[in-house]
Amino acid sequence: MSDTIVALATPTGRSGIGVVRLSGGETLSIIRRLIDDDEKSLVQRFAHLRTIREPDSNEVIDETIVTWFKAPHSFTGEDVIEIACHGAPVVLRRVIDICLRLNARMAEPGEFSLRALANGRMNLAEAEAIRDLIDAQTVASARQAVRQLRGEFSHELQPIKDDLLDVIVVLESALEFVEDDLPETQSESVRIKLKRIVGDVEKIAGTFQAGKLIREGLRVALVGRPNVGKSSLFNALLGTDRAIVTEIAGTTRDQILERFTIDDIPVSLIDTAGLRETSDTVESIGVERSRRTMADADLVLVLLDASDSFTAEDLEIVESVEELEYKIVFNKIDISSIDNLHDKIFAKLPIPYSEFIKVSAKTGEGIDILKRAIVDPFRSEDVSSNGFLITDARHFDLLVRAGAEITHSIELLDQRRSEEIVLIGLHNALRYLGEITGETTTEDMLTRIFSTFCIGK
Ligand code: GDP
Repeated sequence: MSDTIVALATPTGRSGIGVVRLSGGETLSIIRRLIDDDEKSLVQRFAHLRTIREPDSNEVIDETIVTWFKAPHSFTGEDVIEIACHGAPVVLRRVIDICLRLNARMAEPGEFSLRALANGRMNLAEAEAIRDLIDAQTVASARQAVRQLRGEFSHELQPIKDDLLDVIVVLESALEFVEDDLPETQSESVRIKLKRIVGDVEKIAGTFQAGKLIREGLRVALVGRPNVGKSSLFNALLGTDRAIVTEIAGTTRDQILERFTIDDIPVSLIDTAGLRETSDTVESIGVERSRRTMADADLVLVLLDASDSFTAEDLEIVESVEELEYKIVFNKIDISSIDNLHDKIFAKLPIPYSEFIKVSAKTGEGIDILKRAIVDPFRSEDVSSNGFLITDARHFDLLVRAGAEITHSIELLDQRRSEEIVLIGLHNALRYLGEITGETTTEDMLTRIFSTFCIGK
């Protein structure tokens, strides 16, 4: 019998309701000590109004709603009790403490889901989907997580695994029973099947670019010399007044990071400290950080001031991002046009006029065009399609590895190598595909994956 775990299933802090969840062999004996009547009065999957008492003193702790999910028809596959208390941190702490005293132990992060996996209530990809759903920052990423949670990914994988297994069986039996090589017709049909499988695997793996964009979004760094309007543009993009805007050069000393979304794509915008060489230590640390932020970003927005001349410092900044993905944005077009400036700039930087983005952080002009320009280069058709997208780097990695193994096996088949050699890659591929749904995942990996879950899940 598994030990009994307990955790708060709702966020810590004051709230209307806070749910304490128990799972394991002693769940019922623990609840029996907490509520007035014995558990026989509890009907599984029905909500019951029950008074929770301190078992020793009988002191009333809270009026709660208790729900019992009888094994195996529960989230974990074990007996599960959910106690919906009033969301008072002291009450919730007390209920948990009593459960701990009654032999339950605190659940590890993701342990409820791990038990669900161990008891065959869901596969690994589905458990990961719950984590992703909870962590989702946008409607689009929540939508993908729910689809994965409902088994869509596993359903897409199953026929691929079945086909691969069929091929393995053919080759294995050829090893057993056929003395000579596989007949040419059979070998051709194996090759065709394997090519189709690689195609299917690559098709799913190919959705990762869009899936990653939806889930993790883009990191965009904003850089420019002091006073070009970085803070103002930052605020204009966010639509609020969070960064401090002042007229003294060099005031944006440290980095500010804010998240917002453009068309359901999460964007982390980092207002850098600027790149001006300075003798001020605090500011020079900021300069170093800015360089690193830019190098890590998916896109750097270089901001120039349309109302000022194009300075040596501007040129230096543009040159420093040349190796990176960047866009040049002119600000303050409400007080100046860049037409006069363009020729001077073009002499030093051969960038066509049409490639500059022109905005006014003050009036909001051009901000929508800038938002489009930020996300459009990263969008693929997959983002707006209704197809299922993989969003997890672990899944992507395993699909790529499986594809590579099968491709290699096809090459070996073409070289008329023995079935034994060809089979090695196919077995590896099947193992990689199995790791996605957890069939062939090692204990170590499971521990690593579930440590990314929150407690109480
Ligand atoms: P930072 O040092 O690059 O962060 O620049 P700030 O955002 O602090 O802006 C510097 C000055 O330029 C402030 O006085 C802003 O009001 C002004 N400013 C910023 N954007 C615009 C704009 O689009 N138009 C005009 N006219 N002034 C702006």
